[in-house]
Amino acid sequence: MSKVIALAPLPAPGSSPARASAPDAFVRAAAAAPREPGPVADKRGRPLHDLRISVTDRCNFRCVYCMPKDVFGRDYPFLAHAELLSFEEITRVARIFVDQGVRKIRLTGGEPLLRKNLERLVEMLARMGDLDLTLTTNGALLAKKAKSLRDAGLTRVTVSLDSLDDATFRAMNDVDFPVARVLEGIDAAAAAGLAPIKVNMVVKRGLNEASIVPMARHFRTTGHIVRFIEYMDVGATNGWRMHDVVPAAEIVRMIDAEMPLVAADPNYSGEVAERWRYRNCAGEIGVIASVTQAFCRDCTRARLSTEGKLYTCLFATSGYDLRALVRGGSTDEELGNAIAAIWRQRTDRYSEVRTSNTARIQKVEMSYIGG
Ligand code: SAM
Repeated sequence: MSKVIALAPLPAPGSSPARASAPDAFVRAAAAAPREPGPVADKRGRPLHDLRISVTDRCNFRCVYCMPKDVFGRDYPFLAHAELLSFEEITRVARIFVDQGVRKIRLTGGEPLLRKNLERLVEMLARMGDLDLTLTTNGALLAKKAKSLRDAGLTRVTVSLDSLDDATFRAMNDVDFPVARVLEGIDAAAAAGLAPIKVNMVVKRGLNEASIVPMARHFRTTGHIVRFIEYMDVGATNGWRMHDVVPAAEIVRMIDAEMPLVAADPNYSGEVAERWRYRNCAGEIGVIASVTQAFCRDCTRARLSTEGKLYTCLFATSGYDLRALVRGGSTDEELGNAIAAIWRQRTDRYSEVRTSNTARIQKVEMSYIGG
């Protein structure tokens, strides 16, 4: 029978700075310890099902709610290339995650299409077989890359677009990028067969509420699914206040007043978006209410940062350094042991306990951990 070692508990949220890997000793002990038998589920019974991989911490947008220019300026210390996991390292780690039960992989960032030769990584991951392999992008480079990504094996794509009003969109991305170019990217993705396309719109009070109904109206008959996302207190630099959140219920009411909606069942257990269908025509929208209706109890997502740290929550303050194992000669079995042990001791439920005070905790930035 295998012996299971007692692993030290993690530090309390907020006790370590944003990029620290406080639990390194835990990772090393977990890798070396004999494997606890049975399925990989966390302390709240949640399986490990999804992996989000951040392939770069850089972005060509400076969205005011995500990478505000005054913080992410010319002098910002982005990661050096040598610190990033290589495609070979990402693929190896991803394969081990798949062995632990992961069935869905999302490439993200930063802006993933900024990572050179991303198609090569897509091809390497797609070779692993039966996976939902998708990507989230701001769409700026999508018109150029949609076909090659599809050819490389990408299944679907999610495009972020916060307004169809050009002035509002340019102000929100803060690099004066026009809506029309993102729409071209969406069209190219559709033509390449990267469907169904999801369009993510983050709603921030006072910035783009007026864009909610036009967005729904524009995409209603296209087959693309718009998902309205409540503005969240990710990271520590966006100055989040509860007052700025437009609750999902309010968003649904606004759309329903013009285009009647009816609630739809989730596609699968743990689906992040709450689905609504149009009563009078085909098409649907989703709302992601992580602030007003937390869905931590169904969260099956792990996040691998650009430099190979594993985070078990979007709102985490520290990650587990898997790169140290990868570059330190650990075997696949040892890496698998570490991943399983990390997941098994997971208790995260940040969105269920969020207050204005927790919002001030030094959480990792979304551009680094991967959206
Ligand atoms: N650059 C890519 C993009 O724009 O889609 C991928 C990374 S981005 C961090 C992923 C998603 O997170 C985007 O849809 C973005 O709008 C969303 N996001 C960023 N900050 C957010 C916040 N504070 N609240 C809610 N969503 C946010």
